[in-house]
Amino acid sequence: MYYPEPIAKLIEGFTRLPGIGPKTATRLAFHVLNMKEEDVVEIAKALVNAKRKLLYCSHCQNITDVDPCYICSDKTRDKSCICVVQDPKDLIAMERTREFHGQYHVLHGAISPMDGIGPEDIRLPELIKRLNDEQVTEIILATNPNIEGEATAMYISRLVKPIGIKVTRIAHGLPVGGDLEYADEVTLTKALEGRREI
Ligand SMILES: [Zn+2]
Repeated sequence: MYYPEPIAKLIEGFTRLPGIGPKTATRLAFHVLNMKEEDVVEIAKALVNAKRKLLYCSHCQNITDVDPCYICSDKTRDKSCICVVQDPKDLIAMERTREFHGQYHVLHGAISPMDGIGPEDIRLPELIKRLNDEQVTEIILATNPNIEGEATAMYISRLVKPIGIKVTRIAHGLPVGGDLEYADEVTLTKALEGRREI
């Protein structure tokens, strides 16, 4: 490949994104060359803005541009119930169901001894702190229905139950081994309604 440096750099940049191999990266780079300049500038600005302006909510750890985030500062939401999810995208999936009106906590991962990820490597200490500071009566564990998600749910359950907080796990019906973010609203609503105490 003997592309001029600017395009070689662009191709190289695209290959750093997940799921994009050299072939797709090259196609994208040439597509960019054919785009209107103002559209290219808009995308470039959006990339930089997303990186610079987003932060983690000091409360629920969700990504946000204001702290606390709009969910944490919404006074109409139930403060006594926290739904624990692995990823900001899972929170969006839960919100899409419009069935949950409590608080969230985003772990940003799951416990995975195989990958060397322990409880301290995800936002679990932040959750425990919230349980001490806030009047929480129920925790809904909505981690993914795979090995890491289940292990994380069990770990949190063992930690939280002795404090006297009700711990529930969203029901199966979700595809095992799948990701919460890809579940449709109906499946997710049913899983939330059918949650059981663990
Ligand atoms: Zn928040």
